[in-house]
Amino acid sequence: MSARVATTCPYCGVGCGVLAGVDAAGVVSVAGDPSHGSNHGRLCVKGAALGETVDLEGRLLHPQLRGQHGQFQRTSWDEALGRVAEGFSRVIGEHGPDAVAFYVSGQLLTEDYYVVNKLAKGYVGTANIDTNSRLCMSSAVAGHKRAFGEDVVPGCYEDLELAELVVLVGSNTAWCHPVVFQRIAAAKESGARIVVIDPRFTATCESADLHLPIKPGTDVWLFNGLLAFLFRHGVMDTAFVQAHTQGLAPALSAAEGDASDPADVARLCGVQTADLLAFYRLFARHEKTVTLFSQGVNQSSSGTDKVNSIINCHLLTGRIGKPGAGPFSITGQPNAMGGREVGGLANMLAAHMDLHDATHREIVQSFWASPRMASQPGLKAVALFDAILEGRVKALWIMGTNPVVSLPDADRARHALEACELVVCSDIVERTDTNRHAHVLLPALGWGEKDGVVTSSERRLSRQRPFLPAPGEARADWRIVCDVARRMGFGQGFGFDTPHQIFVEHARLTAYRNHPPADDGLPAAQRLLNLEGLATLSPRDYAELAPVQWPVNPKGDGSRRLFSDGLFAHADGRARFVATPARAPMHAPDREYPLVLNTGRVRDHWHTMTRTGKSPRLAGHMSEPYIDMHPHDALHSGVREGELARVHSRWGAMVARVRHGGDMLAGNIFVPIHWNDQFASDARVGGVVNPVVDPVSGEPEFKHTPVRVEPFPVR
Ligand code: SF4
Repeated sequence: MSARVATTCPYCGVGCGVLAGVDAAGVVSVAGDPSHGSNHGRLCVKGAALGETVDLEGRLLHPQLRGQHGQFQRTSWDEALGRVAEGFSRVIGEHGPDAVAFYVSGQLLTEDYYVVNKLAKGYVGTANIDTNSRLCMSSAVAGHKRAFGEDVVPGCYEDLELAELVVLVGSNTAWCHPVVFQRIAAAKESGARIVVIDPRFTATCESADLHLPIKPGTDVWLFNGLLAFLFRHGVMDTAFVQAHTQGLAPALSAAEGDASDPADVARLCGVQTADLLAFYRLFARHEKTVTLFSQGVNQSSSGTDKVNSIINCHLLTGRIGKPGAGPFSITGQPNAMGGREVGGLANMLAAHMDLHDATHREIVQSFWASPRMASQPGLKAVALFDAILEGRVKALWIMGTNPVVSLPDADRARHALEACELVVCSDIVERTDTNRHAHVLLPALGWGEKDGVVTSSERRLSRQRPFLPAPGEARADWRIVCDVARRMGFGQGFGFDTPHQIFVEHARLTAYRNHPPADDGLPAAQRLLNLEGLATLSPRDYAELAPVQWPVNPKGDGSRRLFSDGLFAHADGRARFVATPARAPMHAPDREYPLVLNTGRVRDHWHTMTRTGKSPRLAGHMSEPYIDMHPHDALHSGVREGELARVHSRWGAMVARVRHGGDMLAGNIFVPIHWNDQFASDARVGGVVNPVVDPVSGEPEFKHTPVRVEPFPVR
C-alpha cells in the first residue's frame, strides 16, 4: 500500500476528509480522516465505497470529435483545442460575446471554477456562465445576500452538536448529508430535540421528536406563522433587533397578513394545530436552535422567500452567530460553496462581488487587467438553454455536468443541444445523455486524479489531492480552459502552470477586494469572504494546506462562525428582515394532472450515477428507478405496487416501478433524480419536471410538478 493521501470526498457538501491509498495490485482503499474537522473520521456508505468507483471502464480517455454522421472519432489535443478556440472565436466575432455560454458544475474544483469564470467574464466579456449549483442552492445564496448583504453561512457543523433544538426543513439529512446527520444523531443522544419539516416521512424523520408533514410549498406560511407567534409571545431579542437589524415591521406585517392564527396556519400547511403549536413552542423555548435547510426549501418558485422566512425567525430571536444557534443552508455538491466564492453563478463576480455593481466590475477588471468585462448579469441555467433554442446562444461549453438528465423540462435541454452550432463537453465519462450531443469531447481528470481545493457547507476549504495517475490523455479542467484561452489570444491572463498559482491569485483577489488601490467607498463590513491569510501560500504550503474555514486572517487563522459581533455585510452593518408574503407553487394540480411530483436523492447514489452506478454495493440499496406513491393514489391511478407505471406531466413522461414506501402523503409522489437513459430507457424524471423558476434566484421548482400516473404499458 502506498502512503495514504489526505483528500476530500467528491460527493455531498458535507466535505468529509478521506484518506486514500492504492496497493500494489492497484486496489484503492479509503477511510475517514480522523483529523478532518468536517467528519472526524466518519464516512457514509457512498464515501466508504469510493474505491469501487475509480476504475476506467466507460472513461473518456482521449479527445474526440463528432463526425457528420454522428460517430465520434479520436483526435489529438491540438486538434480538439483548436476546434474549441476557433469555434468560440468565430461565434464571438460574428455574433458578439453573449452568443457563447458556459455551463459548469459544483463538481469542479475552485481553481477550475476560477479560470473558467475569468475567461468568460473578464476576457470573452460575457456573463453567460452558470452552474448546476443553480439547481440546488441558488435560493440560499439569494436569501443570504438579501438578509446579510453577502452570501454567508454564519455557522458551522459544531453548532448542530451544541444546539438544544435542531430543525431540519426540506432536508432528508439522513440520506443526503449522512455524516452531518450522524453528528445531529449524536447530539440527540446528549438531549437535543429534533423537528423535521418535510411532506415525506423520510429516514430522517425516524429520529425526530416531531415531524410536521406540511403540504408541499407551504413553508413560508409555516415560518411567517412562527415569526408572528414569537413576536406575539415576546420571544424576541429586542436589543439585538434594535442594534443590528432593520425591516422588522414590514416583515411582521407580511407574516401577520398571511395568517397569524396558528389554527389557520396549520390548515394552510395541512398539519395538526397541536403539532404546529408544539413546534412553535419548542422554537420559542430553546435559545440554542439551529434551522438547517436544503433542497426542499431552495428548489421552489418561492425558494428565496422560504430562506428569508427562516432567517427572519433567527434575526427576531438574535439566534445567529452564536454557538449552537443559527440558520444553516447545507449545500448539495462538494464545491457549490467554492463556486460561489469565485463568482460561479451568472449574476456574480469573483470574491463575492456583484456583476450589476459597476464598482465591483472595475475592481475585478483592474485586478485581472482584463480586456473586456461582462457588463451585466448573464443567463441563468434554465434561461441559458432557452436562449440556445431562440438562436441567441450558438456555442456552449459544458463542464462536468449532465443537463439533459438534471435540468427541468430536460427534453427541451436536449433539443437545445441538438440545435446548438457548437457543443463542447469536458467530462470524465465517454458517453452520457448530454455529451452524445457534443461536437468536441475533452477528457477531464476525475476524483483521485485532480488537484485543488473545495469548500464545504460550513465554509471549510479542503484539499482534493491526487493519488492516481492521469488516465489516458485526460487533463485537469483548469489546464484545458487555459489552453483554450491562450489559443483565443488571451495568453496574458492564463499563463498558469499549477493549481497553486490559480488558488493564490483567487486568494489575492479576495484580499485586493478588501484593499483596492483606490478606495472604492465600501465599508469594511462588506468584506467577509477573505482569504488574505492564504494569498501568499508557497507551493509547499498549498500542497500541505490543512482544512480551514474562511474568512482566513493574515495569520492564517480561520473562522468557525460569523456575525458574532452583530456586524453584517450590508453598508450600514445591519441585517435585513425581508417581507415574505406567502404564495403557492406556480402550477397547481388539476383534474388532468391530479398528483404533485417531488424529486430528490436516494441514500446510495449520486447525481446521474456516473460513479455510484459502478458500485454493486451501492446499487444494492435501490437497483432501479421507482415511483413512491400512496396506496390510495395507486389504486385511483390504476397501478399496482411492483408494476411499471408512466408518470406524465405537461412537459414530458418517464417510466418506473411503483412502490409504496409508506412515506407519501396522499396526492403526492416521489421519484429519484439519478436514473437516466444510460441505465434504463425513459427513466429521466428531469423530462417531467416543470421549468418554473424562482424569480429572484432562478432556481427551478423541482419539488412541485402536477402529474398523473398511469399503467405501463397501458392496459
Ligand atoms: Fe462524502 Fe457526503 Fe458521505 Fe461525507 S457525508 S462521505 S462528503 S457523501
